[in-house]
Amino acid sequence: HLRISGVSKSFPTRQVLHGIDLDVPRGTVLALLGPSGSGKSTLLRLIAGFERVDAGEIVIDGGVVASTRTFVPPEKRRVGYVPQDGALFPHLTVRGNVGYGLPRAERKSKRVDEMLSLVGLDEFADRYPRELSGGQQQRVALARALAPASGLILLDEPFNALDLELRRTVSEEVIALLRQTGTTAIFVTHDPGEAFGAADLVAVMQDGRIMQCDTPSEVYGSPENAVVARLTGTAN
Ligand code: ATP
Ligand code: MG
Repeated sequence: HLRISGVSKSFPTRQVLHGIDLDVPRGTVLALLGPSGSGKSTLLRLIAGFERVDAGEIVIDGGVVASTRTFVPPEKRRVGYVPQDGALFPHLTVRGNVGYGLPRAERKSKRVDEMLSLVGLDEFADRYPRELSGGQQQRVALARALAPASGLILLDEPFNALDLELRRTVSEEVIALLRQTGTTAIFVTHDPGEAFGAADLVAVMQDGRIMQCDTPSEVYGSPENAVVARLTGTAN
């Protein structure tokens, strides 16, 4: 469903991604784990189409969306994306934000209400982002990414602004929903517990490289090297 091969990316001052290979079969929930600065957000931005690759290619459902020769713009990739800062449109209400990615005819449908109820914000539909807490804003961003039910969704530390208790319930519900709908998902997290508890696959990233990508039990039980062991909390 999603295949990334040999993808590299440099910014003027440094190379951030070095030949990334990653296969995410349809319906798989993949947790992307790695230290700050390892390139997790950059990789998601390349998949979503907000940056261009320097080398390699990204294939979604058999179609090349990014290579040195091809660039499919974000709105044509049909990828749900929650950026790390979760930015909402300040001039739109909660309902307006969640409906934004939907075809015009569906904006008033019950899809928007379903998504709001999923993230526990039914009561907030007519408020503006500035009237919400940070965690509530993040839940709106999550609802907005889930609304189009696009088949592939990228979540960059989506549960970060939530307090511990909410974080557990919202992350479990979101992941259950992704599974129910057969959505392929990549979510970035700094929390090994969240990665191992919720995902089908865990990819560990360090210095712009995927160090290991396997099932949670494989990565946890047989870390490929000391870096993975340290990141996953299996070594000190
Ligand atoms: P975090 O866990 O802190 O969110 P990350 O793994 O998401 O980190 P990235 O945001 O992908 O890391 O950044 C990887 C590296 O690329 C960092 O060193 C960052 O400073 C650099 N970088 C990211 N975007 C740019 C840019 N537009 N221009 C220059 N350097 C950039
Ligand atoms: Mg990041």
